[in-house]
Amino acid sequence: MALPRVRVVTLNAALGPLDYRVPDGMAVEPGRVVVAPLGPRQLIGVAWEADRLKTEEVGDNRLRPLAGLVGVPPIPAPLRRLCEWTADYYLSPLAAVLRMVMPSSAALAGPRRLVEYHSTGAVPPRLTPQREQALSRIDGRQGTVRELAAHAEVSEAVMRGLVHAGALERIEVDGDQPFPAPDPGFAPPLLNAEQLQASDSLKQAIGRGFDPILLDGVTGSGKTEVYFEAIAEAIRQGKQVLVLLPEIALTEPFLTRFTARFGCEPVTWHSDLRSSQRRRAWRAIASGDARVVVGARSSLFLPYAKLGLIVVDEAHEPSFKQEEGVQYHARDVAVMRGHFEEIPVILASATPAIETRHMVEIGRYRELKLTERHGLAEMPAIRAVNLTQDPPPRGRWLAPSLVAELEANLAVGEQSLLFLNRRGFAPLTLCRTCGHRFQCPNCTAWMVEHRLMHRLACHHCGHVMPPPRLCPECGDEDSLVACGPGVERIADEVSALFPDARTAIVTSDTIWSPARAAEFVRAMDAGEIDIVVGTQLVTKGYHFPNLTLVGVVDADLGLQGGDLRAAERSFQQIQQVAGRAGRGDKPGRVLVQTHDPEASVIAALVSGDAPGFYAAETEARREAAMPPFGRLAAIIVSAEDKGDAEAVARRIGHAAPKVEGMAVFGPAPAPLAMLRGRHRQRLLVHAARKLDVQDVIRDWLGELEWGSKIRVAVDVDPYSF
Ligand code: ADP
Ligand code: ZN
Repeated sequence: MALPRVRVVTLNAALGPLDYRVPDGMAVEPGRVVVAPLGPRQLIGVAWEADRLKTEEVGDNRLRPLAGLVGVPPIPAPLRRLCEWTADYYLSPLAAVLRMVMPSSAALAGPRRLVEYHSTGAVPPRLTPQREQALSRIDGRQGTVRELAAHAEVSEAVMRGLVHAGALERIEVDGDQPFPAPDPGFAPPLLNAEQLQASDSLKQAIGRGFDPILLDGVTGSGKTEVYFEAIAEAIRQGKQVLVLLPEIALTEPFLTRFTARFGCEPVTWHSDLRSSQRRRAWRAIASGDARVVVGARSSLFLPYAKLGLIVVDEAHEPSFKQEEGVQYHARDVAVMRGHFEEIPVILASATPAIETRHMVEIGRYRELKLTERHGLAEMPAIRAVNLTQDPPPRGRWLAPSLVAELEANLAVGEQSLLFLNRRGFAPLTLCRTCGHRFQCPNCTAWMVEHRLMHRLACHHCGHVMPPPRLCPECGDEDSLVACGPGVERIADEVSALFPDARTAIVTSDTIWSPARAAEFVRAMDAGEIDIVVGTQLVTKGYHFPNLTLVGVVDADLGLQGGDLRAAERSFQQIQQVAGRAGRGDKPGRVLVQTHDPEASVIAALVSGDAPGFYAAETEARREAAMPPFGRLAAIIVSAEDKGDAEAVARRIGHAAPKVEGMAVFGPAPAPLAMLRGRHRQRLLVHAARKLDVQDVIRDWLGELEWGSKIRVAVDVDPYSF
C-alpha cells in the first residue's frame, strides 16, 4: 500500500513542488500551512492538491516525513486558485506568488509577545555622531532593535547602547491583540440622488456573486462616500472588505475619512509595517477578525477568511502595476480574485483606463456613473497657457499669466498648487565648457540634482554623489549649470516672486511616511500653506476646500517618448490634478502651460471633451491592434556584461516560433538600456487577442538555457515600453 503523502509548495521560488510523507496521526488537507524539512533546513510551505501540480515523482522509500503543522487557518481554495492563475498568467513560479500570501514566516510561527523600543526623548550623556543619527532618524518610531537599526542605518550595537543609556524605552507588544470592529451604522452620510442610486446598486451586489463594476465619477463627486456604503453593507453581512490604494501616502487621508464614517480605523497593510504589526494584521486577516483592510497592492494576496468585496480606488493608477518579481497588475488580479471568490469588485476612478472602459463596452463590467460634484462645488475651468506667446522670463518657468493668477489667489487668501512631475532641483547637470553631462554609472539616466539634500541622485538605482564643484572632464570650475526644472527649482522661483508666501514641496522626498502625509494635510487644512509645489503625489485623493488654483508647469512633459500610453497617461494626470481645484464652495481654475495648445490631449482638457478623447485613443489602439485589442509581452534579458545580454537575447530571437497572429520585435536595447549595473535587451511580442501568448512563450523559453549570470524576465501586459 502506498504511504500517505502530500505535495507541498514552499516559499522558495527556486524549488518546485515537493512531496512528503504524512506522519501517522497527522491530517493534512490542501491549504494547510506545514513545516517541511529540506536538507538541514525547515521550510514553511502549503499543502496543495497533488493533481494540480506537476513535479518529479519520488519513490516511497525516498520520502521524508513532514516536520509539523503551523497553527494558522488553511489557505482557502479560492486563493489557491488565484495563485495558480497568477503564476500561469504572469509566467512566474507558484512559490513566488505564494510568498505574497505569506510575506513573513515570523507572522506565522513567530513569538506572540515582542519586545520593542521607542525613544524617551532623553539625550544620552555621550552623544556620538552615530547615536545622533540614530535618534534623529527613529523620531517617533517604535520597533525591535533590529528594525530600528535598519531604519536608522546604524548597527544594532548602537541601538542597544542607546537602550542602556536610557534613551530608548522597552515596551512589550502583544502580536495577537484584536482590532476594533468598524460600525456600519456609526455615521452614515446623507447622499444626493445620483449617489443614492449608485450606492443602492452597489449594496445590492454584496453577497450575490462575481460582479465587476466600474464606478466612474468625476473628481469630487463622492465616489468614496458611495463605495463606503457598499463596505457598510458587506460589514453588516459579516464579510471582510479589501480596499486597494495606489500609494501609502494616500492611506492617511483615507484613514481619517474611514474613521469619521465607521468610528474606528481599518486594518492597514503596506511595506512599512513593523514585524509585530505584520503578524497581528496577517493573523486577523486569516481568522476573519480584520473586517476592513486598506493596503497597497501587496494586500491583494493575503488569505482573507471571508472576503465579500474588493474596492480598487484610483483604479487607473500605473502604480498598481508591479514591476519587479512577479510582474502583475493589481487591478486585473483584483478582478480575478473577485472571480474566484465570487464577490463584487469595484474599480473607482474619475479617469478610467482605456482597458477598463473597453471591458464596460463589451459588457464584461458594468458601469455606475456620478456626473456631478457634490454640493455647490463645480468642475474647474481649464485654460491653456501658450508658452510661445506668453513665455516666462529667461531662466524661469512660470508664464506671466500664471504668475498673475498666483498673485491674485494669494491676495484673497486662497491656496494654489503647482504641478510638475519631476523631483529634485534639476534633471540634468551640464558643463558649459566641455559639454560633460553627469550620468549615473549604473543606469542609462542623468543624475538629478537634489539641492535640499545637497547631492545628485539617480532616480532608478538610488546612486548618489555630492554636488560637484568642478567638471570631472575638463576641470573647469564655475562651468556647471543645472538644466531644466524640478519641483525644488519651481519652489525657488515662487519664493523669489512672492517672498512672503508660504510654500511647501510635496514629493516622495518630503512625504516619505504616513505621518508626514498627515502633517501636510493638517498644515493645508489649517491654512499654513499658500502654495504647494508637487509631483504626481499631490494629484490624487486629497480634498482641500480652499485650494482654488492649479497650475500645470509643463503639460508637454508626459507626451515625450512616444509611449503607447503617453497621451492617455498625460490626460489622466492633468485631469486628476485639475480635480484638486475648487472642491469646496469656491470655484476652481486650472492653467495648463504648453508649447502646443493644439495637441489632442490639451484640446480635450480645455474643451472638457473626455469622451471624444477616449474615443479617438481607443480607435487608434484598435487600428494598431494594441491593448486591449491585441496583446503585448516583453521579454527582458539582462546581464552585467553587455555582450552576454546581447548574445542570449539574439538566441532567444532566433528561437522564436512562427505562430500565426504573433510577431516578435527585437532584440533591441530596452528603454532603460542599463539599470542597476545590468545591461538590458528587450524582445517585444505582439499577439492577437485570442492567442494564448503565455503558452507560446513558456514553450519557447522552456527549450533554451542560459547561465546563472543572465536573467530573463517576462513582463506580460507591460505598462510602459
Ligand atoms: P471623489 O472620491 O469622487 O473625488 P469624494 O468622495 O472625495 O469624491 O467627495 C468629495 C468631497 O465631497 C468629500 O469631502 C466628501 O466628504 C464630500 N461629499 C461627497 N458626497 C457627500 C455627501 N453626500 N454628503 C456630504 N459630503 C459629501
Ligand atoms: Zn542609476
